[in-house]
Amino acid sequence: MVAATKPTSNPPGAEASYAARWQRTLVLALPFGVLAFVAGWALDGPSGQATTFDALVYPVMAIVLLALHVVLAVRRDALTFVVLTIVGGTSVFLLSKLVFLLFLDMGSAQVQAELTESFFWVPIIYLLSFVLPHVRLGRQISVAFTASILLVTLAYAFAPDLPARSLGVVSALIQLNLANGVLLALTQAFIGFKEAYVRTQARVETAERFASMDPLTELPNRFALQGRLTSALAEAQASGERLGVLFIDVDGFKVLNDTIGHEAGDELLRQLADRLRRVVRKDDFIARISGDEFVLLVAGLDEPQVAAFVAQKLQADLVAPFHVLDQAFRVTVSIGISVFPDDAADPEGLLRHADSAMYRVKRSGKNGVQQYRGETDAHLERQRALERDLRSALQGDQMSLVYQPLHDLHTGEARKFEALLRWSHPTWGHVSPTEFVPLAEQSGQIVQLGTWVLNQACKQVRTWQRTTHDRIQVCVNVSPLQFAQPSFYDSVVAALENHGLMPEALELELTENIVLHGVDHVASTLDRLRRLGVGLAIDDFGTGYSSLAYLRDLPIDTIKIDRSFVKDLGSPRKGPQFALALVEAITGIARYLDLSVVAEGIESRAQVELLKSLGCHLGQGFYFAQPMTPELVELYLRPGDPLRTDERAALFN
Ligand code: C2E
Ligand code: MG
Ligand code: MG
Repeated sequence: MVAATKPTSNPPGAEASYAARWQRTLVLALPFGVLAFVAGWALDGPSGQATTFDALVYPVMAIVLLALHVVLAVRRDALTFVVLTIVGGTSVFLLSKLVFLLFLDMGSAQVQAELTESFFWVPIIYLLSFVLPHVRLGRQISVAFTASILLVTLAYAFAPDLPARSLGVVSALIQLNLANGVLLALTQAFIGFKEAYVRTQARVETAERFASMDPLTELPNRFALQGRLTSALAEAQASGERLGVLFIDVDGFKVLNDTIGHEAGDELLRQLADRLRRVVRKDDFIARISGDEFVLLVAGLDEPQVAAFVAQKLQADLVAPFHVLDQAFRVTVSIGISVFPDDAADPEGLLRHADSAMYRVKRSGKNGVQQYRGETDAHLERQRALERDLRSALQGDQMSLVYQPLHDLHTGEARKFEALLRWSHPTWGHVSPTEFVPLAEQSGQIVQLGTWVLNQACKQVRTWQRTTHDRIQVCVNVSPLQFAQPSFYDSVVAALENHGLMPEALELELTENIVLHGVDHVASTLDRLRRLGVGLAIDDFGTGYSSLAYLRDLPIDTIKIDRSFVKDLGSPRKGPQFALALVEAITGIARYLDLSVVAEGIESRAQVELLKSLGCHLGQGFYFAQPMTPELVELYLRPGDPLRTDERAALFN
């Protein structure tokens, strides 16, 4: 299949199959014409009807028709030539015979019989003029023929010196002209229908072509690729051969496009597509699937490695510069490869794998070729898919919040709840925030996501306050990028106002890394938040920024000791002494700076006892409760709540 060829202005389609059908019909019909002339020639003499004209012209006509038959049977593209010759030749034959009979062979008693005999063939001229691909030409020929017969008739009827004029012949000629008139009218109507049909068909074909074609480069588009990939896979499956999918991405195209302008960028892409089209083999399939991404399908691979050779050859072919705006541009591409059946057996899998292999090329410096590598790329692929799907996750109601209580280690009360984001992905199921929050951070989507969390948490805590009349506080995690937005302060104020929440009911959990984003800006935003009345906590304390001085300089209320230290407290192998010393140091600093200390990740009663004795104020962890849905939190907040075990109740009494 030569799908990569440029579509021409005259696409093969209905017109071609229509011509083929006519060709077959004529090949079958022409021998009858030959026979008619041979029979006429052979029988005219014995039957006493012979004229000099027939004796000379019939064999010529038979030979011409026979020759045309042979031409038509041998040459597929000879239809128009043959039809034109038949129509032209028959017109000349009939007109000459008419002139001969009426003006030269005067006195022949056979005129009428001869007229009838030969003029059987008149409809052929009209019919065949309809077959001609250029409708206007067909129309002109049939009009010219009708007009000529009429002129000859008029000449016969009105010529002054025509002694042998017979009324019978005039009557036959009148009927011949009337029959011609009817045939002409019908032919014109049919030609009109054909014209309309051809136009509609051409429109349909153009529409179909554009639906599956990228208009910029005139290469097949993503839609066409899907169709082709599916059928190529079926063929590969049937033949047991390999199919290579090459994902080609132009390096740095976005920057180039912005630098040279979009029109020049388009021109570059057009030239690139032309070059790709020229260098791929006839049986390969190349498509442009988006901006600067192309996919090449290579069928019939003996070894998976052959695909890499093809890719390298492609790269070599792109080395020569492209000329746009009188400048030379060198373009490199990153190519990722996946092979059926080695890497995947379905179209989506093959494309995804080739794409992730390409992504690996990009990461390792671009301008290279990489074959899909099972597990390494599967991880990358998941990340890319998650990053892509994050965009629609909020609209699709896939995000929700759960809440985990923070307990006062002395009174046992749970007054604070930390809001934790949950993503229920339609195909991957539950995705942990430790996986998607960093991705959202990288792509910048965390800003939108974080604002949603802030609003959702404020709304929720306001609802609990109304139903329980407790002074519940909600803790919301804030990512460094979200915090760095100039509009962050305003978004906090807006969330509080939107849900009618007192600022004291909100605590923001920031990581130590936030300090890295420029202390001045951080300090002023924190000051404003503090003046507003919002609580500020440092999350995962001890894992990030090493300077402790910021604790003194920044308006922090709470430190949350990272759960890794809490875990180490009870683990002899991990050196509990260090964890112990660290927690003691933190509580010492906190006491000095009048900060509240939360221990994260408490999983046992022993940890509670120890942390309490070390001076921690609050504790959070599975020992108290797992993160809960808002409905469970309402149950949890009820006095005498069954979710709090007797053991835990005893601890706090
Ligand atoms: P984090 O803020 O330190 O949240 C506490 C994490 O510890 C939660 O994990 C929680 O389920 C887990 N955890 C609580 N108690 C225990 C325990 O006893 N044992 C153990 N092993 N784990 C415990 P989660 O929900 O998976 O969240 C992970 C991290 O994702 C969070 O750590 C936070 O950094 C981030 N995150 C979660 N939600 C958001 C959010 O809305 N915005 C931002 N920026 N980050 C979020
Ligand atoms: Mg947190
Ligand atoms: Mg934490």
